[in-house]
Amino acid sequence: MSEMLIQVKNLVKHFPVEKGIIFYLSSKIFKREEQVVHAVCDVSLDIKKGETLGLVGESGSGKSTLGKCIIRLIDPTSGKIIFDGTDISLLKRNELRKYRRKMQMIFQDPFSSLNPRISVGNMLKRMLELHEICEGKEALNRAKEILEMVGLSREHTNRYPHQFSGGQKQRIAIARAIAVNPDFIVADEPVSSLDVSIQAQILNLLMELKERFNLTYLFISHDLGVIKHISDRVAVMYLGKVVERGSTEDIFSNPSHPYTQALISSLPIPDPEAKRDRIILKGEVPSSLKPPEGCRFHPRCPYMMERCKKIEPKMIEVSKDHYVACHLYYEENEN
Ligand code: SF4
Repeated sequence: MSEMLIQVKNLVKHFPVEKGIIFYLSSKIFKREEQVVHAVCDVSLDIKKGETLGLVGESGSGKSTLGKCIIRLIDPTSGKIIFDGTDISLLKRNELRKYRRKMQMIFQDPFSSLNPRISVGNMLKRMLELHEICEGKEALNRAKEILEMVGLSREHTNRYPHQFSGGQKQRIAIARAIAVNPDFIVADEPVSSLDVSIQAQILNLLMELKERFNLTYLFISHDLGVIKHISDRVAVMYLGKVVERGSTEDIFSNPSHPYTQALISSLPIPDPEAKRDRIILKGEVPSSLKPPEGCRFHPRCPYMMERCKKIEPKMIEVSKDHYVACHLYYEENEN
């Protein structure tokens, strides 16, 4: 499991937002001001073939935008995305077509991601035909097999999305993702809209399918418990930046970035005798329209130093394959 499938280098995604109008009463001049949402800022990471990289962070940290950029559902502003050795970051729509099949996405809300007017059998059949995998009766038979693979039955072929429960709808969304034999799946909060009892079933299904088809996942979630359960490695995002990444074991047993430490301190401990001091972060996540200078976490960080306000910390390796962006890990004179 060492070959890289995905390499993301210095990825940036900015969204221009409606221009504000500033009215200067004294000079009677209208001035338009362009604003930009800094959704993803200079993110670099890689995902090995056959692994699950968990991407965790609060809502608004840029996780979903990063996931969509990686599979080119949205275009990055700059940076590189290398998929299985090919730079796909600048490919045009028609050139991307052959990669579309290899990269699929599972969304948080299974219902809104399914067409309510098409039976699930026909939906899968169309996917198979669109990607020229098979057609006609063969495609319909294949659709039935895929439904069985995700724990549904052949009899479900003629049903419509509204006739399924939430968990079954997510199984259909998974069926659609695996139908075209992808190599890589971005699963964006795939269980967060489901009941806890159903969540475990869907997570187990995703893990089974990963083993069976040697899939590679980017698994996005705000839920650390889910991330811990499913991921081989974890990347922690805060306000558009990855602030820490490492193996799941390193991240959970030795969280090094103060933000990761705060997130993990909020996890419940199964042993009622054990104690963990919960770190309560002050304030809210700042606006991504105007992220703080220096370390973006500095307004909320309990260890903030003067240099944190001005100098952005670089990502450094604190132990093997465990990277952190924080001045606490630099010697004073290194900055
Ligand atoms: Fe806190 Fe400074 Fe580290 Fe940022 S760089 S996390 S503000 S100690």
